[in-house]
Amino acid sequence: MSVPFLDLGAAVGEVRAELDAAWTRVMDRGWFIAGAELDAFEAEYAAFCGAEHAIGVANGLDALSLVLRAWEIGPGDEVIVPGHTFIATWLAVSYVGATPVPVEIDPATANLDPSALEAAITKRTRAVMPVHLYGQLADMTAIAAIARAHGLRILEDAAQAHGATRGGQPAGALGDAAGWSFYPGKNLGAYGDGGAVTTNDAELARRLRALRNYGSERKYVHDLRGVNSRLDELQAALLRVRLAHLPAWNARRSRIAERYLGALAGAPGLTLPTVAAGSSPSWHLFVVRHAERDALHTALAERGVQTLMHYPTPPHHNGAYAEEFAGVSLPLSEAFAAECLSLPIGPQLGDDAVAEVVAAVRAACAQLAG
Ligand SMILES: *Cc1c(COP(=O)(O)O)cnc(C)c1O
Repeated sequence: MSVPFLDLGAAVGEVRAELDAAWTRVMDRGWFIAGAELDAFEAEYAAFCGAEHAIGVANGLDALSLVLRAWEIGPGDEVIVPGHTFIATWLAVSYVGATPVPVEIDPATANLDPSALEAAITKRTRAVMPVHLYGQLADMTAIAAIARAHGLRILEDAAQAHGATRGGQPAGALGDAAGWSFYPGKNLGAYGDGGAVTTNDAELARRLRALRNYGSERKYVHDLRGVNSRLDELQAALLRVRLAHLPAWNARRSRIAERYLGALAGAPGLTLPTVAAGSSPSWHLFVVRHAERDALHTALAERGVQTLMHYPTPPHHNGAYAEEFAGVSLPLSEAFAAECLSLPIGPQLGDDAVAEVVAAVRAACAQLAG
């Protein structure tokens, strides 16, 4: 038996009849942009996140960059980001012309380390972007205390954290705004690209609704230089189907994570993810560490288990940023990138496959130790 990293087709199969009904509803209505499905999805998703407003946009990168634009953050401004994240967090800052300023992660959780935050704040700092990486919420209480003391805005990068909570509070309304991605592989994925912003700030919500639609709130009236970044009716309708299943699907991810945490404990050379007290991750990814990561990746592939790396190169070492950040050293972020390996996890991953992964990881770790 071979275990793929993620089987998106299986997720379609499980709810095929509901997806087909949603598709048919949209086709029958004959209305494809900014209609009833978007309105309904925005209301349902805002409620799911415990936020007052949700604004659908075209993708997660736009969600993040449009919030920064709405706050009029741009050239000369600095935005604090984690040293280890998907590069889109940084690209959102660069997109508006501002400068990403990286801070180290806490290696236990791979999230922005609040104790490293204060030292990175300058007169130019306007905002901080904690990422809820792999689906575990960053320490928003500690981050918010520092950000508030310095008058900084907080933008959650929640692209991996649909349904995650900490201290009972869901992602999405813990800062001033949160950016979401509905890329197909996310916990709440569309069948194409999609994204959203959630916020409790009515004025921000109003600006974002204009910005995503050519800067227009009323037809033919353009008060802002907006963009075209919309979540279409078809994706909104399909997302509504998946949103209804998300709590159950996240619960299945949690059960798989519990099994991995139990059955892989003590595997030689392997570091398992740490869950902070009071934290209930969405388990978008299950990321382990190993000093011989590449060898482990290969040994698992030979045993039929597909693994991926999120992410093997930190943003400041990628070509897009390497020159500007040539003098920057982030040892904890760099070590994490060099050692991280993502095991298969997903709501449709069966018990047999989980057992297969456990056996393969234990055998591969023993072999490498050996
Ligand atoms: C997926 C992702 C994004 C970007 O989302 P897209 O919809 O692909 O643009 C941003 N940040 C993080 C942490 C992500 O995982």
